[in-house]
Amino acid sequence: MALIVQKFGGSSVANPECIRRVAGRVLEMKKKGNNVVVIVSAMGDTTDNLIILAHQITPDPSDREMDMLMSTGEQVSVALLAMALHTMGANAVSLTGPQAGICTDSMHRKAKILGINSSRVMKHIRQGHIVIVAGFQGLTPSQDIATFGRGGSDTTAVALAASLKADKCQIFTDVEGVYSADPRIVKNARKLDEIAYDEMLDMASLGAKVLMSRSVEFAKKYGVKLEVLSSFTNKPGTIVKEEVKSMEDVIVRGVSADTDQVKVTLEGVPDRPGEAARIFKELAGASINIDMIIQNISACGQTDISFTIPREDLVKTKKLMKSVSKAIDFKKINVDEDIAKISIVGIGMRGHSGVAFQMFNALAGKNINILMISTSEIKISVIIRKKYAKLAIKTLHKAFNLHKKSKKK
Ligand code: ADP
Ligand code: ASP
Ligand code: MG
Repeated sequence: MALIVQKFGGSSVANPECIRRVAGRVLEMKKKGNNVVVIVSAMGDTTDNLIILAHQITPDPSDREMDMLMSTGEQVSVALLAMALHTMGANAVSLTGPQAGICTDSMHRKAKILGINSSRVMKHIRQGHIVIVAGFQGLTPSQDIATFGRGGSDTTAVALAASLKADKCQIFTDVEGVYSADPRIVKNARKLDEIAYDEMLDMASLGAKVLMSRSVEFAKKYGVKLEVLSSFTNKPGTIVKEEVKSMEDVIVRGVSADTDQVKVTLEGVPDRPGEAARIFKELAGASINIDMIIQNISACGQTDISFTIPREDLVKTKKLMKSVSKAIDFKKINVDEDIAKISIVGIGMRGHSGVAFQMFNALAGKNINILMISTSEIKISVIIRKKYAKLAIKTLHKAFNLHKKSKKK
């Protein structure tokens, strides 16, 4: 008997009718003779609304209480899905993340899974239950509820699939798979039949929110077979898997955009050994994910350091930099929120020259100015003004012919 993990995102369980449809799909899988574990997200915009609600109470809510609040969204969904399955005559049981044995570190709002004690889930599976687990949450060592960051139900699904040694992990969402670019922005974006873990990891961490990047890390580490597909159609989706040689035939697999980054510049940082380390040690200690870093040429013994961070970490970053400024004595902190990060990703870029030129040239053709650049073996990212984000994605999609199944020449 195969064990299948299925995850349904917020839009797939947005209302009672959607929940009934999901229940039908899950039951169909069970009736085919499989064991099924289901992970669900909060209904529709519930998480966004809970965050708005908190901010109506205070502009700076505590992370612990935010987790207490946000984790309720997923708990509503699991209970309703279990009820829907009961009405169809199925044996189903809903569990919170902690009840499912998901243990995390103490970093509220971006907790990492440390381990999963899957004995309770296994017990229910053995009893023939469809097990429904609340996504995006687990229990810290001090028995507090913690959430994983936006999109975290994907991570619950893949981590549970790894821990249960599931035969397959299916991520059901509101598009038919992973596309060459966000299909809501690029109308002729192409659904990819397959994508390598490393490409998906970069696309996800660079803004393609169809999968949370940490879920892809888990999938790669534990070799989880991942499929992204639509919960509204029955078409095959995209397989995310270990790379094979033929995947290198495609130079650029996709374009991603992240409009939720901000650029922070510390002006007048003393130009002496250890200062950069001191700044980034503070940020690392708060689990703030720094992406691009630029240090200007020093003048008069001082330099400017710019880096990009997720917008949600801005308040925390400002506070940290204020405390660092006592030790470092930089002159000023500047925040630029009017930016977008646009990236092209593909393992075929390895050993292929001229891709950066082609990217910069295409952007120049539309008069789009580049503010920052960063590269790795399989991606090139640029920071541009936010108003050009959509134009840049469409331009690059066209320049690299991503609507077609392209081959390296
Ligand atoms: P869910 O609620 O199911 O978790 P998300 O909203 O988190 O769904 O992710 C799905 C969305 O990701 C799609 O609606 C799409 O707009 C967006 N998206 C961004 N980039 C891509 C891409 N390259 N391929 C597919 N979807 C993408
Ligand atoms: N409900 C959470 C969010 O909106 C987690 C998820 O949907 O994956 O981010
Ligand atoms: Mg999601």
